[in-house]
Amino acid sequence: MEEIFIRLDNGNQRNFPKGVTAGEVLAADNGSDQTVAARFRGELVDLGRPLTVDGDLVPVGPRDPEALEILRHSTSHIMAQAVRSLFPGVKVTIGPAIEDGFYYDFDYENTFTPEDLPRIEERMKGIIQQDLPFIRKEISRDEAVGLFAGIGEQYKVELLEEINAETVSTYQQGDFIDLCRGPHLPSTSKVPAFKLLSVAGAYWRGDENRQMLQRIYGTAFFSREELENHLRFLEEAKKRDHRRLGRELDLFSIHEEAGPGMVIWHPRGALLRTLIEDFERREHLRRGYQIVMGPQMLKTELWRQSGHFDHYRENMYFSEVEGQGYGIKPMNCVAHMLIYKSKLRSYRDLPLRLFELGTVHRHEKSGVLHGLVRVRQFTQDDAHIFCTPNQVNSEIKGVLNFVIDVMNAFGFEYELELSTRPEKSIGSDDDWELATRALEQAMKEKDLLYEIQAGEGAFYGPKIDIKLKDALNRRWQCATIQCDFTLPERFELAFIGEDSQKHRPVMLHRVILGSIERFIGVLIEHFAGAFPIWLSPVQAVVLTVTDRADEFAGQVTDRLLRAGLRVEADLRNEKLGYKIREAQLQKIPYMLVIGDQEVSRGGVSPRTRTGQDLKFMTIDEFLARIGSEIEPPRFD
Ligand SMILES: [Zn+2]
Ligand SMILES: [Zn+2]
Repeated sequence: MEEIFIRLDNGNQRNFPKGVTAGEVLAADNGSDQTVAARFRGELVDLGRPLTVDGDLVPVGPRDPEALEILRHSTSHIMAQAVRSLFPGVKVTIGPAIEDGFYYDFDYENTFTPEDLPRIEERMKGIIQQDLPFIRKEISRDEAVGLFAGIGEQYKVELLEEINAETVSTYQQGDFIDLCRGPHLPSTSKVPAFKLLSVAGAYWRGDENRQMLQRIYGTAFFSREELENHLRFLEEAKKRDHRRLGRELDLFSIHEEAGPGMVIWHPRGALLRTLIEDFERREHLRRGYQIVMGPQMLKTELWRQSGHFDHYRENMYFSEVEGQGYGIKPMNCVAHMLIYKSKLRSYRDLPLRLFELGTVHRHEKSGVLHGLVRVRQFTQDDAHIFCTPNQVNSEIKGVLNFVIDVMNAFGFEYELELSTRPEKSIGSDDDWELATRALEQAMKEKDLLYEIQAGEGAFYGPKIDIKLKDALNRRWQCATIQCDFTLPERFELAFIGEDSQKHRPVMLHRVILGSIERFIGVLIEHFAGAFPIWLSPVQAVVLTVTDRADEFAGQVTDRLLRAGLRVEADLRNEKLGYKIREAQLQKIPYMLVIGDQEVSRGGVSPRTRTGQDLKFMTIDEFLARIGSEIEPPRFD
């Protein structure tokens, strides 16, 4: 019998009969029965995969990073089997594992409701109990077309028609067969804990002109405990959902009739945004930036010159005025370069730091829009630093210091990533090399830890991305620092050096918070709407017990307003308990109660939004107590 030579990662190695399965090899080696799949010659394979050549075999256990994806993808097949058996006429499309779970998209004439999910779960449990093996088969593409056409799965046929390979693989468990690359668990019984979560609409292939499908989301874990933890996390995230809190706190709204992905700020939300923007203006001026403003539309020729037309056009909106084409700006860079070019620059003028709270438009598919965090129009705290090559290092460090101060001011932890050259990019190898090194060097000198994201840079240069961590430990992109040797070239930017010769400046693109919309979305969820006092749109509310206190309440409100506090008065003829509850729901930091006692003694009885009763105090005492906490943080 022909033999093959297999080496395991524990050092054991020997010959096996050709055609032995990965699972048999691992079992012969006393492998764990928890093993999910294996890596053979670097490729992920099912335990049932027959091995026909020599190679290294590594078991994949439940704790390995690939394992959850295999578990979840397998669970999506089980869900598809359950749905198909419960709802005759359903057509299956695709069902991948995603971060935190899986989904499967179905074409079905009726609408799935949340009430259907427990039924589907029950059917899935039955399938899991049956311990059905996931059986992989390789068949010719034509045979697969015939197979799926025969069972009426036209979406699979469409997918197959686009596949360029001679053979494809199918996976079957019980009576359910799917076109799939795999790998999968050895059997349905290997799913220890799963839950179906929600139903949503989704277009076939994400294309709004194609069939509307129904997507069922679920998740799976290797233990009940992990599943329970995740469900608790989802519950908490739901409570903090910024779309819901945005409505309850009356911060913003998004209207289908105005346009998807376009935010309308209500008074309290607009105030919150203004507070953040004022803080940003102050901090940029303190750090040697100059504030500028550019137009919303610029001629298409400029976007050709910048490279956006060739590399970013699908994300842009275009318009025409008097026969002239215009592009609505997706970035603020171009106007800033025109400011640079508006006069002759010498090395003594550099670095030049131009800052704009720049509103940009970027096309996002309607399916991915999400509250404030994925929108089509947003405002960036954007700046461009023009400097000499010698100044790049200190400028990057200056930006890193700025980011760290701001993250501390808002109370966020953060992580850094260095993103390198993507496939679609412009500029010479030397420039990319130089720019990437400059970014890396600055982080090293500041002793900052960072990860490398290969190929994730912008098309015009490498970048440092800073991701903040919120209260639920989720990562959000905020600051980026991008090094750009290319745009200065395209726009022929120059400065006169010490040698009286013309030189090319370096351009740094950077944002600190990134999209203000997105940042506010994150802020709302991080604080669950209970913003720090300096960011609270309303910092205190005066609550009267009876209308006998109205006049004094008016005086107190005026006094506090003049002291710089954002304060409102609630003089409605409602019970005090009701007013307090409402102010608590509005997450107002201080409630200042005024009854007959307070009127006669000339003060207030403050309560905090967490329910703490601070007892009677005079207005002066109250102002002294809140002190500087109503002001934005300051830095040395
Ligand atoms: Zn699959
Ligand atoms: Zn830029």
